[in-house]
Amino acid sequence: MKRSLILAALLACTTAMAESPVAIAIHGGAGTILPENMTAEREKAIRSALEQSIRAGHEVLEAGGPSLEAVATALRVLEDAPEFNAGRGAVLTNTGTVEMDASIMDGRTLNAGAVASVKRIRHPIDAAKRVLHDSPHVMLMGEGAMSFAEEHGLEFKDEDWFITDFRREQLESIQADEQAATQLSEDWYSTVGAVALDADGNLAAATSTGGMANKRWGRVGDSPIIGAGTYADNRSCAVSATGHGEFFIRHVVAYSICSLMRHGGATLHEAADSIINGTLKELGADGGVIAIDAEGHIAMPFNTAGMYRATIDTEGQLQIAIYRDE
Ligand code: ASP
Repeated sequence: MKRSLILAALLACTTAMAESPVAIAIHGGAGTILPENMTAEREKAIRSALEQSIRAGHEVLEAGGPSLEAVATALRVLEDAPEFNAGRGAVLTNTGTVEMDASIMDGRTLNAGAVASVKRIRHPIDAAKRVLHDSPHVMLMGEGAMSFAEEHGLEFKDEDWFITDFRREQLESIQADEQAATQLSEDWYSTVGAVALDADGNLAAATSTGGMANKRWGRVGDSPIIGAGTYADNRSCAVSATGHGEFFIRHVVAYSICSLMRHGGATLHEAADSIINGTLKELGADGGVIAIDAEGHIAMPFNTAGMYRATIDTEGQLQIAIYRDE
């Protein structure tokens, strides 16, 4: 009797798990990412940060937590990892400062939060999440966003904490060769992002970045723009983008992918692929997206040599990849 009760409980548990799949995908940017440009040491650090990030996000989902918290948790890890262009290790502006952008969206309610051009906030993604939860607004920028973050007790660090030698040298070499300033390279673009499906069937997306190296005039890219760099809607999908932000804004990339699914009847893969390898590629606009739908399908198209990426799918399988053919 006792035994059959245990069996029944186990069965119920397994069925519940099968009925409520969870899944998560993350990216650390797309660009001219080739094995010959990579040192073994850098590749190891990148793979390890990706693994740590996706496992942290997945743990939240496995514990029954919301996708909104899972994507923020995954991004906090990448914002702290100096290898990526977000938080610590973010690219430098024309004057050598760090100005960061982030956004997050809840696919259940369509609530969203974003910050643009913020400085010294350790986790810009948390600032965006606070905007979503604790303000009547969607986007805050600059000094005002920083005051808001301070009032809500977010952690600040000295600007030096964010700046790595790698980024200092990168800025020097860009400024020494203005010709290079017009080209896209992996070192210039490597935003981080996450999308997830939780056990309640809710989708969420989040993106965080230092933007474009050597940027000036308060330039802001697609990452904090809801619809361009980030979008989530339970009725279609959740998307986080990386790439040449100006094009992603003009083509409202994240929203367009969701809209092709919802209104155009496309599958997740068809929708994501047609924007990245169709619309954007035809324009010469480099980049990629990670996207997930309500069934936990994951698409990660990119039109560059590589994209730092990782997934834990509905079967619990972990995959980490950097180059095209992985
Ligand atoms: N999309 C970001 C921007 O334009 C850069 C990136 O994805 O790395 O600011």
